[in-house]
Amino acid sequence: MIDKDCIFCKIGAHEIGTKVVYENDYVIAFDDMEPLMPVHTLIIPKEHYANVGDNVPEETLGKVFAAVREVAAIKGLDNGYRLLINTGEDASQSVPHFHVHVLGGGWMPRPNDQDWGPNATNAAELGYK
Ligand code: AMP
Repeated sequence: MIDKDCIFCKIGAHEIGTKVVYENDYVIAFDDMEPLMPVHTLIIPKEHYANVGDNVPEETLGKVFAAVREVAAIKGLDNGYRLLINTGEDASQSVPHFHVHVLGGGWMPRPNDQDWGPNATNAAELGYK
């Protein structure tokens, strides 16, 4: 199903232009408009699912993750990459259409426990107990 009000559905249907990296009948991969790394590509299923927890069929999950390999090869991420799947409010997901971020093109530190989580320097402000 496609959600006519969803921006990523529109990208999947080519109703909105974007820099397509890879595409097949099930998924489309395109560069993030606000890249956090030299390579920052998003992979989405063309069907609408709000997030990875939204009863995404296993076949669709497989198509999305198979596309990770394609994107990594196209982008030359021989030295590694990071996958990120923000899911729901607690993870600050901003576009409610399941997507996998593929980040790479340079070294990335591991997420710093000083920045978020119960050990963060501003843990109370962030609402952790
Ligand atoms: P998330 O916060 O995990 O939901 O990530 C959504 C991502 O989509 C952000 O990194 C945005 O920069 C990116 N984004 C939103 N709209 C577009 C668009 N039209 N084209 C490319 N990237 C987009």
